[in-house]
Amino acid sequence: MGCAQGLRTVSQIMQYIASRFPHYCCFCHSRSESNIDLCRFCHCCFPVLYAEKGFRFHRKLCMQCGHSLDIDFSDDKCAECGIFSSPYAHTLIPYSFDPPVDLLIKKLKYRSHLPSGRLLGLLLAGHVRRMLPSIDDWPEVLIPVPLHLRRRMERGFNHTEEIAFWCGRALDIPVKANLVSRVEETEALAGLSRAERIQTVTGVFQASEQLFNKRVAVVDDVLTTGATTQELARELLDTQVAQLQLWAVARTPLGSVAS
Ligand SMILES: [Zn+2]
Ligand SMILES: [Zn+2]
Repeated sequence: MGCAQGLRTVSQIMQYIASRFPHYCCFCHSRSESNIDLCRFCHCCFPVLYAEKGFRFHRKLCMQCGHSLDIDFSDDKCAECGIFSSPYAHTLIPYSFDPPVDLLIKKLKYRSHLPSGRLLGLLLAGHVRRMLPSIDDWPEVLIPVPLHLRRRMERGFNHTEEIAFWCGRALDIPVKANLVSRVEETEALAGLSRAERIQTVTGVFQASEQLFNKRVAVVDDVLTTGATTQELARELLDTQVAQLQLWAVARTPLGSVAS
């Protein structure tokens, strides 16, 4: 236990304890080679939207609208979305909303399975490291898409906050969930068209002036039509953040709706 004597902060002690206990894959229960609950064989079956070493594209989707793109298409936006400027300096989305990623998100969101949030947050952090290798490109603050207070109390937690917490902890970026609030309660967006979603979410967010001139990444679980995150982006740009990024775990293909 000699090396434990050199540990000073709670975080260092927690990391030391975690390193003493192995992680096991949440799908096949074999021992994981890393600090996540996933072995590399099961990870290879994940529906990736990017070419990565050891992975094959599951499919390629426009990050803005979800339109299917050819696998060898060089951009991450379709030609139509490429014409319009995006509010985001970077849009990072590692997976499509297909098995088993959709199951992990639903387990977290509807069955309060917090280990799924940890896994998704750490996978998102790994994707950020690969896509933005320079720490200078990272944001100063992570903002999880907020839930209205009443819905948060009903559920007991905000699932996007769980993902942001683990992602931020892995990258050492603070999560400031209290700097943006959802001031109006809206009906559930599942099943609504893009136009209906835009109408429903207009004006529902309020950002703190503390975000003025900060580099911010919005963290979401799944990007469907993008109506919610675009409204949040509009509020953050009104608050004059210095830079805005969008990090989400999964993207739905155009025409499908995440429930
Ligand atoms: Zn496995
Ligand atoms: Zn598009």
